[in-house]
Amino acid sequence: MITEKIKSYSNFSQLQQDLKAGLISVKDLVNYYIGRIKAHQHLNAFLETFEAEALARAEEIQAKIDNGTGGKMAGMIIGLKDNISFKGHQMTASSKILEGYEAVYSATVVERILKEDAIIIGRLNCDEFAMGASNETSYYGPVKNYVDETRVSGGSSGGSAVAVQAGLCFASLASDTGGSIRQPAAFCGVFGLKPTYSRVSRYGVVAYASSFDQVGPIAKSVEDIALILEVIAGKDSHDATSSDVPVPNYSQLIAGEVPKKKIAYIEETLHAEGLDPEIKANVLAQIEKLKEQGHTVEPVSFEYLEYVVATYYILTTAEASSNLARYDGVHYGYRSPESKDLISTYKKSRSEGFGDEVKRRIMLGTFVLSAGYYDAYYSKAQKARRLIKEKMDHILEDYNFIITPTTPTPAFPIGEEITDPMVMYLADIFTVGASLAGLPAISLPSGENKQGLPLGIQIIGRRFKEENLLAFSKCIHKL
Ligand code: GLN
Repeated sequence: MITEKIKSYSNFSQLQQDLKAGLISVKDLVNYYIGRIKAHQHLNAFLETFEAEALARAEEIQAKIDNGTGGKMAGMIIGLKDNISFKGHQMTASSKILEGYEAVYSATVVERILKEDAIIIGRLNCDEFAMGASNETSYYGPVKNYVDETRVSGGSSGGSAVAVQAGLCFASLASDTGGSIRQPAAFCGVFGLKPTYSRVSRYGVVAYASSFDQVGPIAKSVEDIALILEVIAGKDSHDATSSDVPVPNYSQLIAGEVPKKKIAYIEETLHAEGLDPEIKANVLAQIEKLKEQGHTVEPVSFEYLEYVVATYYILTTAEASSNLARYDGVHYGYRSPESKDLISTYKKSRSEGFGDEVKRRIMLGTFVLSAGYYDAYYSKAQKARRLIKEKMDHILEDYNFIITPTTPTPAFPIGEEITDPMVMYLADIFTVGASLAGLPAISLPSGENKQGLPLGIQIIGRRFKEENLLAFSKCIHKL
């Protein structure tokens, strides 16, 4: 009975009403999700659950709800990607090098959701240091897609997406550097938002590529995405790059009718090599639906599409090579038992502690930053980034939104693409553009292919205009 009730909520405000009316308790919710996590351990989405703590907190939050002082997220059960710090809890970035590491402070996003009475139920598997598009680079193994367990979850936030897809928690927090929220959301048929760069504090989040990284929500409705964003966004004195643009009440602003909009779709994305024909047909059908609703949808040309993946990988590996220098076997995390002196401590701890993909990126990043190649690669990629950003901004002067497929293919079989990094990197072709430009982008469920695999559609919006992006997202329905 309770189980059916919990399953029936399509957004948090319905659940919150029932909590306030006493029809369901916070403890029921925690027990329900703990039960589901245990029954679905083979999906490998959760690396750890905080059962006792969550149950204790459920009592506290229940008391607040009962006396009318519960916060905006009172009773929301959240899973946390394993690269976001939660004081006193382990955080490994799914890497051997951080095995056993306990966070000494909480990320600002964690502080903020706790202040609004969310309950964190556990930490979620991801690609090692958020580097990957299938969750297969995790030291703890791949996450299985709930729709087809032989297929990947997408990545790097595979655990965060599958946890929501399989109903193991209400919503999750993840990070997105080049698609890590949007791509797994698309593969799992859920909603995932990468906010404008600097909209959300990065304090306490494991740094991969600092000029790209953003934290965002994965959930089952646009309304829930809006609510969570409203809580986590905003200036933070601990992150100098966080923006002081005021945070609107996203959850209220998205209600009501959506005025007619002008939307661009990028011609080149629909002719991209390797684009699955069913995804192409799905996007074209969505475009038709939008036109039927009275929106203007027009093709535009984005001649840089073939350069976005290269630009992204040069810049992010460069930033990663510097960010990951701190894992040296000295300060914290894994130290090789073979260490004899300083140099062997560095060399052996890093060689044994990092996985292959992370090492590949550190080497690539070090190479593109090296004196002889800096101008040929790093400087050039910076220039390309500028052109890509200007072009996207230019399109968004004329149009309210840009619409693209989120991914070129649906979820692929586990083991199929991991052997070829180039193939894997191309999985990011449609998501890295917004990351290079720092623009907000959301992936929305757009239906299924003939095999029943989820398909996603991406909407990119204007800088700091998440309220418009989210309001418009409600015009997109599963086909
Ligand atoms: N797949 C991309 C990469 O491996 C994106 C990862 C991310 O957004 N963290 O870099």
